[in-house]
Amino acid sequence: MKVLEKSRRKKLQRKVDAEYGYRSYRDRDVEVRKANCGFGVFARRQFLPGELIIEITGQLIERESYNGSSFVMELNDKWSMEPSIPAAFLNHSCSPNAELLQITEYTLGLLALCNIEPGTELNFDYQWPALHWIPRCLCGAPVCRGWVVDKNEVKAMKKLAKKNKAR
Ligand SMILES: [Zn+2]
Repeated sequence: MKVLEKSRRKKLQRKVDAEYGYRSYRDRDVEVRKANCGFGVFARRQFLPGELIIEITGQLIERESYNGSSFVMELNDKWSMEPSIPAAFLNHSCSPNAELLQITEYTLGLLALCNIEPGTELNFDYQWPALHWIPRCLCGAPVCRGWVVDKNEVKAMKKLAKKNKAR
């Protein structure tokens, strides 16, 4: 097999990045672009409460054999899903404007919880359990829990953070 020259390879890679790459998704309904912290998914039109914003599909992974990336979503006891673009860039908020809903056994939907104006960043509550690697939350909501955890896990997370500090 003939190996492509470096310059040709770079040119091809740029084309692939532009068309399929992370950070450049855009369709009629949503787009991926820079957010306060990293990248996020933004509405390109108005969504009404209860409206399905996007259907989320992705690569299915058996939970037993997988530790998960920070994007992973849980489907059921057996399967996790590594969501594809744009859903992989949905950020957490303690006061979210959307929520996840299981549509079929292997797909999720992102549902609007309130009226969402074009240009608004879309987010949902990750509801993560308290674990040592959980990051501080930067959502900026008045009700922010301080960490990206479920509201029932805040107490446990505070304890854990104290312990982490002492270490
Ligand atoms: Zn928060």
